[in-house]
Amino acid sequence: MYKKNAFLKTLLCAALFLFSYIILPLYITFSLKALSFKYLLVFYLINIIVITCLVRKNSGKIYRFEYQIQVLQEKLNILNDRNSSELKNNASLEAKIIRYNSLKKLVEELNESLNFEHIANIITLAAFSLVSNNKGTCILYLVDKETQKLALFKTKKEDRELVVKAKEGDIFDFWVARHATPLLVENIRNDFRFDPEKLKIQDLRPILSLISSPFISDHRFLGLLRLDSPKAHTFSQDDLRLLATISDLGSVALENSELFAQTQNLAMHDGLTSLYTKGYFLERLKQECIRFRRRSAAFSLLMIDIDSFKNYNDNFGHTAGDIVLRKISEKLTSFFKKLNPIIGRFGGEEFCVIIPDADKKKAFSLADMMRQELEKEKIILRRQETNITVSIGVATFPFDANVEDDLIQKADQAMYKAKKAGRNQVCCI
Ligand code: GH3
Ligand code: MG
Ligand code: MG
Repeated sequence: MYKKNAFLKTLLCAALFLFSYIILPLYITFSLKALSFKYLLVFYLINIIVITCLVRKNSGKIYRFEYQIQVLQEKLNILNDRNSSELKNNASLEAKIIRYNSLKKLVEELNESLNFEHIANIITLAAFSLVSNNKGTCILYLVDKETQKLALFKTKKEDRELVVKAKEGDIFDFWVARHATPLLVENIRNDFRFDPEKLKIQDLRPILSLISSPFISDHRFLGLLRLDSPKAHTFSQDDLRLLATISDLGSVALENSELFAQTQNLAMHDGLTSLYTKGYFLERLKQECIRFRRRSAAFSLLMIDIDSFKNYNDNFGHTAGDIVLRKISEKLTSFFKKLNPIIGRFGGEEFCVIIPDADKKKAFSLADMMRQELEKEKIILRRQETNITVSIGVATFPFDANVEDDLIQKADQAMYKAKKAGRNQVCCI
């Protein structure tokens, strides 16, 4: 529309020019003979001079306008460049915001759990989905505490049929374990750090690029998190940074869950004998009462106390006494093994055993058999043969008592009855 108007304007100007400067003067001069040829020449001469002056005057302006147009064009180009780089920045910022939000979610998820297996699963899943977009393979290796070697713990794979054969890691994992730093390999074939000959005999999975980040806690290498792809140049430095952040969060969470498990274990197990502690045993006793009440079935509780243990300690020393406590624990564990017992160290030299589905008669005969075996057992201390005996009290649920506190009391009373009756015997209430 604008172009059409401009064209019409130019056409009008040209027509006006043709009419005013050619047709009209020539018509006046030659047809009307009102103007002499001399004046016509003067008319043209004056007009040419005026037009030349006008053109000269305006040519400077035109030049200035062209220059300004060029400057504006340059500014426009710069602004366009800035705009496109801002757009790129915006896109990468948006991607970063998405990643940070996902990391925040990951931290929340990790904070909610103290289960080692669950945490390992969350970390592997996060790395696989956030960093590699569920493409290729993600592997979590952890250091086996016994062998001190890497051991495959979790995998997430794009191709579910794919088998990861390197159960103890490959040369890339050994590199990360040795250097304890993150690794980015853009193309395995061109990476001078790794021997291509060694690569051939490794896992037969097609791998061309990978990133890997170690789990380090307290300067201790715990394992590594690795992503690999059958395509070259799949991962960037940004991806490696994100993977390193995930593995940093993961190592703290895994360490915490391990510490929690250790604390739980310490609260549950007695340090000297490894039997259940009194607190945990009472908890289990409470549960057994509920379980057997529901089943309307019986179970028995044995309260076992070593006879004259103070004298034993006085004669052979406290360390020898500890050995005896350990020996009795082992004996109790092996003797009742097949009966699914719950065995606890109730106090210094007192033990208690829950024998499921054992009525009083059965519990009594089992306890007496065990007492006799202990009596016969020879304990060699400093080349000297020693032996110990125990007194045992038996109480049966629900006949003697149907709540845990009463049952304990009854078993204790029965045990004191055995002590009073001369020790080294089993008594019921
Ligand atoms: P009784 O036949 O009446 O049970 O006599 P006792 O000497 O066994 O009973 P007493 O309650 O007088 O003494 C218990 C002893 O158990 C005292 C303590 O030295 C010993 N003892 C308690 N805990 C431990 C332990 O962890 N290690 C060792 N070595 N001895 C312990
Ligand atoms: Mg005692
Ligand atoms: Mg005793």
